[in-house]
Amino acid sequence: MGVRLTGVLELPARLAALNGAARERADRLYEVRLVSGHTVPPPELEPWLATTFGSVAAVRDQTVVKVTNRVTLEATLFAPLRSRRPIDGAKHGRHLAREISAVEGDPFCHPETGTPADTFGRVRGTRVITGANAAMADAHHAVLVFDVHDPLAFDTETVVDLLRTGREWAERARRDDPDAVNYLLIWNCLWRAGSSIIHGHAQALLGSGSHYAAVERLRRDAAGYDGDLIEEMIAVHRSLGLTIDLPGGVVLVAHLTPRKERELLLIGSPGGEETDPPFADALARTLIGYRDRVGVTSFNLALWRPPLANAEGWEAIPPMVRLVDRGDPSIRPSDIGAMELYGTPIVGSDPYDLIEALR
Ligand SMILES: [Zn+2]
Repeated sequence: MGVRLTGVLELPARLAALNGAARERADRLYEVRLVSGHTVPPPELEPWLATTFGSVAAVRDQTVVKVTNRVTLEATLFAPLRSRRPIDGAKHGRHLAREISAVEGDPFCHPETGTPADTFGRVRGTRVITGANAAMADAHHAVLVFDVHDPLAFDTETVVDLLRTGREWAERARRDDPDAVNYLLIWNCLWRAGSSIIHGHAQALLGSGSHYAAVERLRRDAAGYDGDLIEEMIAVHRSLGLTIDLPGGVVLVAHLTPRKERELLLIGSPGGEETDPPFADALARTLIGYRDRVGVTSFNLALWRPPLANAEGWEAIPPMVRLVDRGDPSIRPSDIGAMELYGTPIVGSDPYDLIEALR
């Protein structure tokens, strides 16, 4: 055996090694296919290919792992060579820290005068204060502004207070609008992740009617499945070595069908709350590891949870956070292309590297 190239290429072998119920469960939930592609490089191109991709052979014969969740139809093409593609226009001289500090003194540095308030006022946490989003996307849409400017300067208390303050905001908004029960907390960190403001902040939305579409999709998929979908998804990931069990029944999962690079799922227990200390602490630990050990600087985060009231039919959906890396802020091409929007997302990173980095 040579050097272990990448763990995800061994996924079919790992599946084949499962026995009995574990094998049955994995086959019921996931389709995993290993496919190979071949190219014929001209000799003139060989030196460049060797430098860029490690070897000419790596370009000549390639392997892609296709994983599909048969129930949710989330799917990913793991193409390890993609992460080595050259990027035109990468500006290595730009320093993120300098760019962040250059806009210090922005409106979020003084949120009480720099953001509108909600009609009921503001919710003040220990590290986070709410404002109404100046350009609302729903009847209730808040910004949760951090007390420090640098969006990457968060610590455990920031994350715990974010969950607490976001939830308090939602409960407060619901008092004036009892039909608004669908609470969604999101955090777009830096411009690669879609953020227009650098200053550390998250957002909270509270909607009526159907839950936000992606959350409602999961509820429907779970309801239509003959079994406990979330529990079985966790079990498959665990049997394949892609989970970390944390205190209080919280599980960190390196996702088999990530939406994009290095996607993590942090899953609480059914009936639990995202503000429960084990879940909040696990999220803080995860985000700090994502930043410090994995080196992620730009990410999207979403908290999925059942509606705050009238949650019949949501019993099997625990609070969960989805978290995805949006790449190096100094790189110009978007990480999201037509495949991600209209096909199957292509991912270059390896979930096994990710889970190892966070152990
Ligand atoms: Zn600021």
